[in-house]
Amino acid sequence: MWTEQLKEAAAFIRDRDDFLIVSHVQPDGDAISSTVTVAWLLDKLGKQYTMLNEGPVPSRLRFLWKSSEIRSMDEAGAADGQPQARTYRNVICVDCADYARVGRTEQWFAPDAELLNIDHHPTNNGFGRVNLMKTHAAATAEILFELLDELGLELDTDVATAIYTGLLTDTGGFRYSSTSPLVMAMASRLLQAGVNGPELAEHLLERMTPGQLRILQRGLSRLELSEDQRIAWLWVTSDDLEDTGATNEDLEGLVNYPRNIEGVEVGLLFKQNGEQSVKVSMRSAGRVNVAEVAQAFGGGGHVRAAGCRFAEPLAETIRQVIGQVRKALDAL
Ligand code: 5GP
Ligand code: MN
Ligand code: MN
Repeated sequence: MWTEQLKEAAAFIRDRDDFLIVSHVQPDGDAISSTVTVAWLLDKLGKQYTMLNEGPVPSRLRFLWKSSEIRSMDEAGAADGQPQARTYRNVICVDCADYARVGRTEQWFAPDAELLNIDHHPTNNGFGRVNLMKTHAAATAEILFELLDELGLELDTDVATAIYTGLLTDTGGFRYSSTSPLVMAMASRLLQAGVNGPELAEHLLERMTPGQLRILQRGLSRLELSEDQRIAWLWVTSDDLEDTGATNEDLEGLVNYPRNIEGVEVGLLFKQNGEQSVKVSMRSAGRVNVAEVAQAFGGGGHVRAAGCRFAEPLAETIRQVIGQVRKALDAL
């Protein structure tokens, strides 16, 4: 079954040319690593492609091979100041939990576009013409490593570093429950291929920007716990980002603080983007399936890490999400 999926995905790539590679809005380490890994293998096969994301590549990830060639869109749908010139028939989506996660890059898909959907989210509904999905994979990068093997391509340091970055970031530094024996075997091969593991861990996981520390300080000052101490949450606003000089990418990891509190089952982060726009991040200590909680509000993700968006005021969003988490806790 899995080997058939791998062969089908390999055929999608081999039989076509001129691809658009996209990942999810507000891309993370796995999204960008997976984008450049697909670009790398298309390069090796002598194929043409364009990499596109709705937003810019987070600055922390700009060291990745060819990441500077990933185009990002402005409000008008143009990329890097260039108006959209054309659309693409062959689209490869990586790390997108569902179709909506491609965001406005959809404007670049031809009406008769065919999609190869490569992903590891259990809530993925298989929106592609061809789907390469392994829900217990630690990262989309893990799936791509297998695809590389299927295509008979030899690792070099560039692609090994990208794959390692995807694995490292999506496993929180090889710590989450998704860190399987296969992940460690892959990490071993990647290190042998020349990846500098300690340097990547330092750069991607340890180092903090001043803005990151200041937004952490502000977020923690607002920490709240439910009466039974099983739910903890923080909230931040766009004004907070402005005041502290933090960027959206500086919010990564903030949701772990409420989750890490002893006894807490679910940690939440509410990021208010506007009067009626809130992004919710959910993290579970293991017993509550937060992907299901997020799905109740049209979002998705993994059992222990999920998210959704609300077109409601902050207070109303907090009320609804906490209510749903309480229901999930009561059902345990
Ligand atoms: P984060 O909280 O770090 O933004 O996201 C955690 C996980 O939930 C990620 O795996 C991400 O793909 C997923 N996720 C976050 N927001 C959404 C959303 O709005 N919709 C869906 N389907 N998944 C989301
Ligand atoms: Mn991701
Ligand atoms: Mn991922």
